[in-house]
Amino acid sequence: MSFAQRDLPSGGVSCATKITNITVIPAHVDQVYENQDVEIACDGEITKISPHSEPTEEDSTHFAQFGDDGFSTHIDGTGKFLIAAFSDAHVHLPKEEELERFFQLNLMNGVTSMRSMRGESWHLKIDKNGYYTPKLYLSAPPLVDSSFVNIDSLQKSIQQYAREGWDFVKLLSVDTSLNYTKLQRIAKAAKIKVAGHSPHGVSIQDLCNQGNFMSIEHLGGISDLSDMEQIVYAIKYTNQAGIYHCPTINWAHSFQFTKEKLLAQEGLKYVSQSMTDAWDEELTESAKGRSEEELTQFRMMVKKHSSMMTSYLQFLYQQGGNLLLSPDASGAYNVPGYSYHDEIQHFKEVGMSNREILHIASSNMADMFGEREEWGMLKTGATTDLLILNSNPLADISNARDIDAVLMRGKLIFSSDIKSNLLHP
Ligand SMILES: [Zn+2]
Repeated sequence: MSFAQRDLPSGGVSCATKITNITVIPAHVDQVYENQDVEIACDGEITKISPHSEPTEEDSTHFAQFGDDGFSTHIDGTGKFLIAAFSDAHVHLPKEEELERFFQLNLMNGVTSMRSMRGESWHLKIDKNGYYTPKLYLSAPPLVDSSFVNIDSLQKSIQQYAREGWDFVKLLSVDTSLNYTKLQRIAKAAKIKVAGHSPHGVSIQDLCNQGNFMSIEHLGGISDLSDMEQIVYAIKYTNQAGIYHCPTINWAHSFQFTKEKLLAQEGLKYVSQSMTDAWDEELTESAKGRSEEELTQFRMMVKKHSSMMTSYLQFLYQQGGNLLLSPDASGAYNVPGYSYHDEIQHFKEVGMSNREILHIASSNMADMFGEREEWGMLKTGATTDLLILNSNPLADISNARDIDAVLMRGKLIFSSDIKSNLLHP
């Protein structure tokens, strides 16, 4: 344990944390506050941020008399940086037996909130208060073309999803514009939101007019448009409708790499054998029947596609589109948590400032769920998870990987502890 002293209070009542003399980077404002003391309550609420003060002699006498100063954990933040933790807005939860490791990999990379995009019925049973469980937003099992064959049973399913407590409905595909309208009518009546793939045959304008769509994944609807003016309008419509774009550049991007390159990834040593076995199988399957030359050609094509997607992201950014950050780490050798920082690099490539990236990463998902004031911003009164970094992410955004500790729902978790847990279970 590098710098925390866990003096449990004699009364045993408090579990609050105090970080002293740290540089606070709020990211939702263009300000940096050096030498701050930050107090965090047991439930994770940030209760006080104030200029650092050394304890006075009077304080010491007081603490000696009462046994503690009300904080169970003291952290010396000298030379460290405090930022709000990250949200991954497009997650495919792994098999149940991989779940805890998946959460740990994300946690040690700073991701403490997730939106699941491919619901399976067992997800409702996940222990939301589990030690490593992030804040979870769950999608119901996804809707596909065949879900619309019988509208009555679609209506029953959606009413059931709303009753069961799913956070939203994921749309993978819908065959006609008319069926999309029906879906929206049903979902609105059931008071459940819809998010997912921009449906073919439904224009962005029609999508936006329904008033119940949360986010468009993978730049759908935008990357199909070839005309710049159309794209400008499409972005404008989505902004007016409060719809977010979750570009997920890294998923496709990662297909351009050879296995040799994939195997060189830093985070791989923390991944389970069964997961790498599944990835190997996936790679073998996709290479089946293709010559070396064809594979090289395929990688070139992916590279071209990826740079096109990046230019759409750039355009979205320049036009003020609402953005969500996620690598959609569901492909072979997309290492959970680590991939999140690869997506951050794609955001960097399009000219965003480091502060803007931090803001999108920590706050935009809360904003989309209408919880802007509750969490996601580093400010007094918010129940925002926090990251203590060893180096300054404003100087270099890759320093956002340099995580010393995470404060999730008031719990202090060191990344070095998670790493050694994963290596020596
Ligand atoms: Zn996905």
